[in-house]
Amino acid sequence: MDYVLKYRLFPDSHQREQLDWVRDTVRQLYNHGLHRFNRTPESAGTVKQRVRQIRDEIPALKDWWTDLNNVYSTVLQQAVEQIATNIENLGKLRRAGYNVGSLNWKAPHEYRSFTYRQRGFELDEKSGPTGRGTLTLKKVNGENIDVSIRLHRPIPDETDVKHVTVKKDKTGAWYACLNVERDAPDKPDPREIDTDDTVGIDLGITSFIHDSDGRQISRLDVSAGRDRLEREQRTLSRKDHGSNNWEKQRQTVAELHKRMRNKKLDFKHKVAAFYTRKYDAVFVEDLDVKGLLEGDRNGRHTHEVGWRDFITILKHHGRKRGCHVVEVAPADTTKECNECGVKTNKPLWVREHSCPSCGFEADRDYNAALNVLERGLEKLGVVHSEGTPAETGTAVGTEGSAAVSASAVVETGSPCLKEVTGGD
Ligand SMILES: [Zn+2]
Repeated sequence: MDYVLKYRLFPDSHQREQLDWVRDTVRQLYNHGLHRFNRTPESAGTVKQRVRQIRDEIPALKDWWTDLNNVYSTVLQQAVEQIATNIENLGKLRRAGYNVGSLNWKAPHEYRSFTYRQRGFELDEKSGPTGRGTLTLKKVNGENIDVSIRLHRPIPDETDVKHVTVKKDKTGAWYACLNVERDAPDKPDPREIDTDDTVGIDLGITSFIHDSDGRQISRLDVSAGRDRLEREQRTLSRKDHGSNNWEKQRQTVAELHKRMRNKKLDFKHKVAAFYTRKYDAVFVEDLDVKGLLEGDRNGRHTHEVGWRDFITILKHHGRKRGCHVVEVAPADTTKECNECGVKTNKPLWVREHSCPSCGFEADRDYNAALNVLERGLEKLGVVHSEGTPAETGTAVGTEGSAAVSASAVVETGSPCLKEVTGGD
């Protein structure tokens, strides 16, 4: 399993020039490869095969395009192979209904990074002043350069680093993204998981999260940042497009954008780290299905992207920490009473679940989180340590009978499953 660690680089002015030279040479190779690709007939093979043929032409290219001799070989190969990846991504967007054209040539400001694959780089944590190490890059315009790297966290063992992507962002800062391979820990056997160590999560509108252990996590307040961003954007629109002042202001806006995005991502990472560290299994609703069921109702649309990001991050942390992250059927999690399974309609402004059938009262989102938990336990196959609901012999999860099975769970101690299983 792979993950990416990002470190700030501090190249001196000569090194910056050399890095920019590589960036631009690689960009030209990419454009050349794209040009060649567009001229190979589709009958020549799949996109990958056609791109590979062009990659294999690189050694011959070097005979007349001598600059290529001053760039590390895997960097060149990666740049050409990127064409296949970009075409595939374009196809995905098109299939998702986006109106996308064909792959374009990259202008200088659009091509920001190049990648050393497997070889051509060295990492040294000990050299350099405190908090700094060295990243050695080979064949950067023909020379090997030692770039200062900020160690805001330890760098991984060099043998675990698969690729190093060197990147210049819009603000002009340079970064190294280390792609690290690490064996993922095993996830526990569902039959051995204690229900105590599981949780159901309801992704809400009013608060970000409501979970089956009664926690509420409110949304990150980004209003101050948003106000500032709007102000700076207004300032930008008043400047002469392309002037020095405009360029400076554009960088300010770009940096604010980045800071806001990082803040939101950081928040989601923290929440995901908390849940995957504390629990053996985390259950969330399947948003793909939920979207189909509910459409744009209840203003869920505005939060959709954030929820999806969160689930992606949650799964990533789950893999890293050996915690199951399971998506469950979302139908009626809010309507269904967790005590008796009877469904009642509630508009969004009704914040309390108050069951007309059995009298169970709970916060609306807490009730939903309990339902998510229950469905997750069922789907993953977590065995309750005593009095399992399966003993009632009722089919679970099918329409109609779900109500019965829900009440069966309740009889064995839900909503506080831990009280049932915690005794032994
Ligand atoms: Zn009820």
